[in-house]
Amino acid sequence: MADTIYALATAPGKAGLCVLRISGPRAFDILTALGGGEVPLRSARVRALKDGAGGVLDQALVLTFGAGRSFTGEDVVELHLHGSIAVQRAVFARLEELGLARMAKPGEFTRRALLNGRMDLTEVQGLADVIEAETEEQRRAAMRVMGGEMSGLILGWRSRLIRAAALMEATIDFADEEVPVDVMPEVVELLSSVVDEMAGEASGSSAAKALREGFEVAIVGAPNAGKSSLLNAIVRSDAALVSEIPGTTRDVIERAVDLQGLKVIFVDTAGLRETDDPVERLGVARAKERAEAADMRLFLHEEESVPAFPVARAPHDLVCRTKADLHGGEGLSSRTGAGLDALLEAIAAHFASVAGSAGFVSRTQDEMALREAIAALTSALETCYLGDVELVVFELRKAVTVLERIVGQIGVEDVLDEVFRSFCLGK
Ligand code: GDP
Repeated sequence: MADTIYALATAPGKAGLCVLRISGPRAFDILTALGGGEVPLRSARVRALKDGAGGVLDQALVLTFGAGRSFTGEDVVELHLHGSIAVQRAVFARLEELGLARMAKPGEFTRRALLNGRMDLTEVQGLADVIEAETEEQRRAAMRVMGGEMSGLILGWRSRLIRAAALMEATIDFADEEVPVDVMPEVVELLSSVVDEMAGEASGSSAAKALREGFEVAIVGAPNAGKSSLLNAIVRSDAALVSEIPGTTRDVIERAVDLQGLKVIFVDTAGLRETDDPVERLGVARAKERAEAADMRLFLHEEESVPAFPVARAPHDLVCRTKADLHGGEGLSSRTGAGLDALLEAIAAHFASVAGSAGFVSRTQDEMALREAIAALTSALETCYLGDVELVVFELRKAVTVLERIVGQIGVEDVLDEVFRSFCLGK
């Protein structure tokens, strides 16, 4: 029998309310021991929770969910307590004293939901993304994955491949007899349509990843071109600042902002300068790499003609003349704000069109799995024409296995720790 676990589902600290969740076979016993009595399943009651001596710990709103119809799939009690640090401490102390449950590990509730079949692996990752979402487009994309759209797509491919395998196997079983119909046209049609759809999804995965993690814009220009002034002007503009990015090096300064619902990370590659200092040169190389790997580059120059830049330019990159307030004419001024809205508009428009091609697959390991399935199916299709039925079935099974791994129907134990590493306590 599983342990019964508990944790705060809400952030620690002072608030109007906090939610303490208890899940497992002793959940209802704990409610009784707290003096909560019986609460009909899937309903809410106000109860005075008591300590061992009968003193009131808190007036709580209590919700109960029975096994099979709860988030974790187990018996669940939710205590909506007053969000006071003293109340939280007192209730925790009482739970510890009762000894019927232990504190949950990070992500353990969701882990149980996964193991009990309440969610599949893609939905769990969607849930993690919903919790992490900082912008509107991140929220929308995460909601679709959490709602099962990615899972539906993958399971749809899986059942078409299983049908194709069954058709092929029928020809093996009937090898000595006459095969009732020629199955090959249907198998080829099934395989090629699935491969096409998978290839489409794989090609949208880098956009999906950027949507989830943020699109990167590297600001490139000579010293004094106005890079850091522009970064500051962007941060001060309407673009809302999203969470701080940890781990910035001394070579680059980055700020993430919300541009029309998209998370966009501006990177000031201040380290990009000519230098004879070997240590500094390392920084320069890193800044150059970073600029080249970014989703877009914004080249700044103060002089009238466009100079040569040390970083390669892609067709969608932007080039701007800075300090328009000094030089007059078209251009950008971080001082007056001239040209800033138009610039941000152009950047957002480009990334919005990229985001439009985003698929559901946004994690590298899923993208690699998808490519593995595509390779197996491509080889299956080639083998179809050679007539090697057993080899076709072998490749088909390989692709099916890969899809089952993505949704966590098999091999889920191998990936659990990785998946739940990012989950916080109480989720
Ligand atoms: P960086 O080395 O490329 O990061 O350039 P900075 O942003 O530090 O700017 C270099 C100098 O140009 C500073 O003295 C800024 O105040 C000035 N500067 C930057 N942008 C503007 C602008 O739009 N107008 C004016 N007048 N001065 C600017």
